[in-house]
Amino acid sequence: MSKDYYIIPIFVPHFGCPHDCVFCNQRRITGLSTDVTQDYVKKTIEEHLATFPKRDIVVEVAFYGGSFTGIPKEIQRELLSIPLEFKNQGRIKAIRLSTRPDYIDDDILNLLKEYDVDTIELGVQSLCDDVLYESGRGHNSKQVYMASKLIKEHGFNLGLQMMIGLVGDSREKSIFTGKEFIKLRPYCVRIYPTLIIKDTYLEKLYHQEKYKPLTLEEAIDISTDLIMLFEYNDINVIRVGLQPTENINFGKDVIAGPFHPSFRQLVESNKYKILLKDYLDKLKLDYDGKDLTIYVHQKNISNLVGQKSSNMKYFKDRYNFKNIRVYKKDLPKDIVELNISNTTLKLDMKYLTGQYVKGI
Ligand code: SF4
Repeated sequence: MSKDYYIIPIFVPHFGCPHDCVFCNQRRITGLSTDVTQDYVKKTIEEHLATFPKRDIVVEVAFYGGSFTGIPKEIQRELLSIPLEFKNQGRIKAIRLSTRPDYIDDDILNLLKEYDVDTIELGVQSLCDDVLYESGRGHNSKQVYMASKLIKEHGFNLGLQMMIGLVGDSREKSIFTGKEFIKLRPYCVRIYPTLIIKDTYLEKLYHQEKYKPLTLEEAIDISTDLIMLFEYNDINVIRVGLQPTENINFGKDVIAGPFHPSFRQLVESNKYKILLKDYLDKLKLDYDGKDLTIYVHQKNISNLVGQKSSNMKYFKDRYNFKNIRVYKKDLPKDIVELNISNTTLKLDMKYLTGQYVKGI
């Protein structure tokens, strides 16, 4: 049985960051690189560990914030020395951090090796140079390819983060970025729809009507295609959508954009909707007035049914089924069983995903 995985997140803001990403509101305070201290890191780890179950778990400490390796090296060393202590004591299993592609070189990677870091996630956002430029990222796609190669050569796990709906972005460009990610064979990826956050340049562009965010539907559609591309290629998608926090919410720091507290579930449900629709369309049976019974692994029931039974309503309307019932069954997670008027059909979702992604 696989062990439960726990992450201890430590946000390391990069004050004085010299970059101007249009979506970012990190304050520029010259002279101060971060206000995170060793004591804070130690306290945060201890506090989290105290709340976790004592047995059979895997714990990872993750430094988030987007540009860890851009802060002065002595501060990186100070901060990393704390999780390393915990790792050496066997109290945590892994260390992860996120950074920019242009903050990676041999020296930096040697330092991170010294502190036994396991995973390095790159905030790539896009592999289209025009999108990177218009988003004020201050790095280009070539630097992403080089950093990814170096990270892998040094034996770290590579994580890649992308954003969709950036300035100058399009569905085609996001899919291109996704396909390029697959060629880089990352260990994991994250997909973030661009949100308009208070006090950012993007907010200004939005009020000047020079930037239009994706609608929730558009963001779900693009993310669904991306998630299918990644999953079909056995790449673990560890996050889709920003995590709602005290401030990441409408009425707080989110001014506009495709924000939804359960964004990933909407994407997973959309995946089932697309795959089942394609299958039923091709099958061309007479569904009119028939009963449809669906059996699925317990973990996939809510994704299949959709929020407020949206998928069930959709299939009922589209094919005029009399009733649709969904039951859990001890099936492999990729298998869905359909029963239509005593005809039983076994669907392999991975195979159907493969058929679908050929057309992306
Ligand atoms: S997102 Fe861009 S501007 Fe914000 S901290 Fe990271 S690199 Fe700096």
